[in-house]
Amino acid sequence: MEHFQLKRAANVKQALDMATTQTSAASTQGTRFLAGGTTLLDLMKLDVERPTQVIDIHRLPLDKVETLDGGGVTIGATVRNADLANHPSIKTHYPVLSQALLSGASAQLRNMATTGGNLLQRTRCVYFRDTQTPCNKREPGSGCSAIDGFNRNLAILGTSDHCIATNPSDMNVALTALEASVHIESPQGKRSIAIDDFFLLPGTTPEHETSLNAGELITHVTLPAPMPGNRSVYLKLRDRASYEFALASAAVIVTVSSGRIDHVRIALGGVGVKPWRSREAEAALLGRAPDAAAFRAAAEAALQTARPQSQNGFKVELAKRCIQHALMFATQTA
Ligand SMILES: Cc1cc2nc3c(=O)[nH]c(=O)nc-3n(C[C@H](O)[C@H](O)[C@H](O)COP(=O)(O)OP(=O)(O)OC[C@H]3O[C@@H](n4cnc5c(N)ncnc54)[C@H](O)[C@@H]3O)c2cc1C
Ligand code: SF4
Repeated sequence: MEHFQLKRAANVKQALDMATTQTSAASTQGTRFLAGGTTLLDLMKLDVERPTQVIDIHRLPLDKVETLDGGGVTIGATVRNADLANHPSIKTHYPVLSQALLSGASAQLRNMATTGGNLLQRTRCVYFRDTQTPCNKREPGSGCSAIDGFNRNLAILGTSDHCIATNPSDMNVALTALEASVHIESPQGKRSIAIDDFFLLPGTTPEHETSLNAGELITHVTLPAPMPGNRSVYLKLRDRASYEFALASAAVIVTVSSGRIDHVRIALGGVGVKPWRSREAEAALLGRAPDAAAFRAAAEAALQTARPQSQNGFKVELAKRCIQHALMFATQTA
């Protein structure tokens, strides 16, 4: 592990000042914020992340979940995954988010992991974490070991010839279906980004995973007010029942009125290079009765552009069935 400076910020301004102050030992580019540390510290120990300074933000006053005037919620960046999953307002009005969080990692990890850190967790592609192998995401231009290597767990949607890694987060899939906005602060001011634009496709630059710039801090995430009468479900399929990343997952939010689907949002995990909103599946469902034929049509539409690799062709059908079952669970009591 490289030497780095460790600083503790007491408030947002101090964190931003620390991040943007250049010294001979520390640069903005080399700065990482430390929240729960469950991703960053692992990657530092593996020499994948080599920051020049680490700014501990876990004491920042960004640890609240609050209801907005219009009925939505704001979730602070340092709210722990366990606290968010068990918050009464989230459990009641956004069950898909609570279910997604509780399906991730372990109880101990969820007690440490934060909203901001979960948004920015890195891929679990084995080559990304092994500095002895080529990886375009870790070392641009070095090549992609996974395309002709171990790719069973990797993506089938949105891939490029430069990277096929999945975004591993469960929370991000639910936030995508919920059309969350990510709020960011820097010394230049504040901005917010729709979650679908926050995550980038790999294209020829897989090292750029989000639209966050160096030194920018995520302060909070907002969710719009839930659609009246909606039902939502997060379904995660994996190799074992707990403490495992998704092979395929689906977050679905559906409203049925007069026997027809009149509002639906679908996002997929485990199969996309980013949390994968499927507008194709949504279009296939709108106006239809919530039945098996409609669910299969949505599943086919969602996977029509799938591009499987040598070891993960099984994910195409797995993801389709995941969508179908999630829709069935969400609508069976509607
Ligand atoms: C064994 C294991 C199993 C896991 N299983 C799952 C799983 O099944 N599903 C799942 O979804 N996740 C899983 N995870 C990942 C886990 O959810 C993430 O490690 C966690 O959410 C990261 O949050 P953190 O607060 O610890 O982030 P940190 O490690 O503190 O930070 C992660 C990154 O985010 C940056 N960052 C953090 N906060 C901010 C901020 N406010 N603004 C700007 N940058 C910020 C850091 O600089 C760093 O680059 C697993 C992790 C482990 C170790
Ligand atoms: S899939 Fe992406 S992360 Fe994995 S080796 Fe290829 S470039 Fe690296």
